[in-house]
Amino acid sequence: MQQADIIERWREVLRQMALAAHRAGREPDCVRLLAVSKLHGAQDILALFQAGQPMFGENYVQEALGKMALLPAEVSWHFIGHLQTNKVKSVVGRFALVHGVDSLKLARSLQGQAAAQGVVQDVLVQVNLAGETQKSGILEAKLPVLAEFLAASPSLRWQGLMLMPPFFDDPDRARPYFARLRELAETLRASFGLPLPELSMGMTGDFEAAIEEGATLVRIGTRIFGERDSN
Ligand SMILES: *Cc1c(COP(=O)(O)O)cnc(C)c1O
Repeated sequence: MQQADIIERWREVLRQMALAAHRAGREPDCVRLLAVSKLHGAQDILALFQAGQPMFGENYVQEALGKMALLPAEVSWHFIGHLQTNKVKSVVGRFALVHGVDSLKLARSLQGQAAAQGVVQDVLVQVNLAGETQKSGILEAKLPVLAEFLAASPSLRWQGLMLMPPFFDDPDRARPYFARLRELAETLRASFGLPLPELSMGMTGDFEAAIEEGATLVRIGTRIFGERDSN
C-alpha cells in the first residue's frame, strides 16, 4: 500500500474512534490508538509517525528490535505478542508497555529483569475470559495470585488489563467480553487500591464496540496498514 493511503486510512480510524467514543458519551481523548505494525516495514511506520501517530505495537521481539534501531528514539513501542521468559531481557526497558503478562512465572521474570536494570516496567495483564485453551491470557481463576504479585512488585507498574476475545464475524458478539473486562478492572481497582487506568481491547474488526464498552487503548493493524503477508 502507498504511504499516502496508509495515512488516509489511519485518519479514518481516528475519526471512527472519536465517533464511537461520542456514541458512548466518552471524551475522544480517553481512547488512544496503538498502530499494530507487525510484519510492516520501518518506512511505513516512519511515515505514520511523522503524520502524528506516536505508538506502535509489535508481536515479535527480534523484528521489533530491528525496527527500533532504524526509527527515531521518540517512537513509543508496545509489546503485544506472547512473551516467552527467555525474551524478557530484550523487552524490559525497551517497550513502553508490555500488554500480555499472563502468568506468575512471566511476571517474576519481568520483575527480576526490571530490578536488575534499575527500571520500572509498565505492564498489562492479559485475561483469557472465554477460557480458550489455544489462546494466551491468564484464566480468571488464577488472576488473584498474579494480581497480588504485581501489586507488590516494586519494578513493575501494573497499568490495567488486556483482552483478545474469541473471534466472531459479528463484533456485537464480542461486546459481553469487553464489558466483562471493564467490570473485572473495577473489581481489581477496589480490591487492590490501584488506579489500573488501561483497558487494552479492540482490534480491526471490533474496535468500535470495544470503545463503546470502555476501551482506553485499541490495537489496530489491518485497518491501517492493509493485510499482512503471513510469515
Ligand atoms: C495482530 C494483533 C492486533 C491487530 O490485529 P488487526 O486485526 O490487524 O487489527 C491486535 N492485537 C494483537 C495482540 C495482535 O496480535
